[in-house]
Amino acid sequence: MESLTQAFGQATFPSPLKVSFQTENFIEDGKDRVLVDISLEGLLKASRPNSGHILFQPSTFELAGPREKIFWNPDSLKVAIVTCGGLAPGLNNVVQNLVTFLSDRYRVKHIYGVPYGYQGFTHDPLTKRFAFGWRRLDSLSVQNIDFEGGSVLGTGRGHSNPISIVDALMLRDINILFTIGGDGTLAGANAIHQEIKRRKVPISLIGIPKTIDNDVLWVSKTFGFESAVGKAVEALRCAQTEARSAYHGIGLVKIMGRNSGSLTATAAVAMNDIDFVLVPEVPLRLEGQNGLLNAIVRKVLDKGYITIAVAEGAGQDLFPPSEIEKDASGNEKLKDIGKYLQKLITDEFKARNIETTLKYIDPSYMLRSQTTSADDSVFCAKLGQNAVHAAMAGKTGCMIGYAHERFTHVPLSAVSMGKKRLDVNEPLWLSVLAATGQPSYWG
Ligand code: ATP
Ligand code: MG
Repeated sequence: MESLTQAFGQATFPSPLKVSFQTENFIEDGKDRVLVDISLEGLLKASRPNSGHILFQPSTFELAGPREKIFWNPDSLKVAIVTCGGLAPGLNNVVQNLVTFLSDRYRVKHIYGVPYGYQGFTHDPLTKRFAFGWRRLDSLSVQNIDFEGGSVLGTGRGHSNPISIVDALMLRDINILFTIGGDGTLAGANAIHQEIKRRKVPISLIGIPKTIDNDVLWVSKTFGFESAVGKAVEALRCAQTEARSAYHGIGLVKIMGRNSGSLTATAAVAMNDIDFVLVPEVPLRLEGQNGLLNAIVRKVLDKGYITIAVAEGAGQDLFPPSEIEKDASGNEKLKDIGKYLQKLITDEFKARNIETTLKYIDPSYMLRSQTTSADDSVFCAKLGQNAVHAAMAGKTGCMIGYAHERFTHVPLSAVSMGKKRLDVNEPLWLSVLAATGQPSYWG
């Protein structure tokens, strides 16, 4: 795995932070690095005996933060910011922090918001006219945008042609591009970075991870997650209230999470009394003595009512094979596991002649479009500030990662290695099993 952060070269300008704050708290490249795996087992694995000595070569990422010298001269710098993919609470907070930090602390004068995701780079190569106007941003224009959900820049899927995007960046003389988005956006950012490298043009590209379902590698937490958990808990509470108030009541809630059940599991643990938590990482088996349907019937008869949390990506292999549909970004459209379970469970109770009432709640867009919790806002501020430090120091082709309470520079190539999934041997899933009492596998 590539763990070295790329930079354009020698940073020669004194950081304006040093001048204005007279601080000496600067990060030293090469010296300040963060272990990827902090377990003793990981360290031992990375060590190897060598003529009586132990050489430690664990994987590390560069620590994020301010550098004493910066690469770019703020006076002439042009910066663009784009938000891509679906909404997440905190997008506006990150944009606001990038803009205010760039302009107020690093004295950058030219900052642009690119509208509607990668689509905002669409232009006619002959006339050089852009399909959408870019927005000039400064501290004043981003004031209070954190009070709103969504993205003030607009976001979108599709349209990620790295050649045309780098053409657009060069046409507008952009030196730094911040891309804020999920796994797709970061894969797109890596493709743009490769094209920038191929052309040998001086454009820094810094990715900022946005993944409320927590499926991006090398980030233990991202903005929007806490806020989304809060909303998911609200939906579970409603479903549970409905279930408790009905004879043999069942509350069923579908929660975001295409590849990772992290959000569903976290919300379920926060509730503590959810009965079944279904995630993509644990294959679903419905029929038979040890199948889900039998377990549901038994629990309803036993307890009187139950609540089920299902991640949207769970049980996809249960659907009969059909033509795969894709969205504009090329993501496979998932089959609706919530509605599918609703029908199966209702039919099962009918077949067994047992009365039940099932209430199904799908809060999907409510999770994405809300404003942030205070905790998430703090996280957005740190993320934005570290992204600005990285860009100003001349770093490029990296994402701001977060692990073990430290912000890091993670090469985009390492981000695109795969998607993060819930580890069923990790404490979170073990807490789910402890809280629900459900078996560790079905069937
Ligand atoms: P979320 O999943 O939270 O909605 P995302 O960033 O994963 O966020 P996508 O719609 O999958 O959202 O992707 C965002 C942008 O990245 C789109 O413009 C899409 O075309 C582009 N993109 C996605 N995957 C790739 C890829 N493998 N290579 C290049 N570009 C990509
Ligand atoms: Mg995605």
